[in-house]
Amino acid sequence: MPELPEVETSRRGIEPHILNKKVSSVIIRQHKLRWPIPKSLPDKINDHKLTQIDRRGKYLLLNFARSGTVIIHLGMSGSLRICTPSTPVGKHDHIDFVFSNKKILRLTDPRKFGCVLWTKQAIEEHKLLSKLGPEPLTDEFDAAYLYAQSRKRSCSIKAFIMNSHVVVGVGNIYASESLFMAGINPNRKAGSISKPRCEKLVAAIKTILDAAIKQGGTTLRDFTRENGQPGYFAQQLQVYGRAGEACPECAKPIKLISQQNRSTFYCTQCQK
Ligand SMILES: [Zn+2]
Repeated sequence: MPELPEVETSRRGIEPHILNKKVSSVIIRQHKLRWPIPKSLPDKINDHKLTQIDRRGKYLLLNFARSGTVIIHLGMSGSLRICTPSTPVGKHDHIDFVFSNKKILRLTDPRKFGCVLWTKQAIEEHKLLSKLGPEPLTDEFDAAYLYAQSRKRSCSIKAFIMNSHVVVGVGNIYASESLFMAGINPNRKAGSISKPRCEKLVAAIKTILDAAIKQGGTTLRDFTRENGQPGYFAQQLQVYGRAGEACPECAKPIKLISQQNRSTFYCTQCQK
């Protein structure tokens, strides 16, 4: 599933090709994604210049100055790439944004859980985005914030950091990896984590996500491949997916448990 690092990598990958270019047409082959692609979308953006490409959480935001914003979510299996008019169209290529320089931004999404929406609203007020917590890589997300937010919360610390109202972009893999790096047992109640440990956890989340984005930047460099979608990268993972293997710190076998129906991997010795 595309997570925050993949979305950010996609943003950086497509930007040089289409920023400040005008849309010359929009080809919608499949309206039925998670929510239908608005039929009026081509009328809204044809002949308008794409002035900014932002990201908020896992939403990619194509901003057209003075007209509005296209909100794209990649769902479970979506990906974006840059094509040319001669690139063959695949069965899961649902929408093309054709730009004046003949470059095409193409959304491929086999499972159709993604979305392409249009809004004229101030983006931070849109219903999909208004309740999102801070971006993990900004200064707004710090130990004081995490500590204050987590007081009196009885859910597990893992569920807490995966809650997008608390902080965006900490997916299941990143949650396990961050808690390992911070030495925190994922079962601990969020409200019981001390301030110094919140500091460690915040630093770990930032380090892990930053490394993933940097790695994405190197392995996902080519957004213009003709054949298929960019392959999402497999990060160097310390505990995730390594049940029974030796902990990289203490060699004790990594434990696998289920929390909120999601797999959690951790070391019972290193994480307290
Ligand atoms: Zn260990």
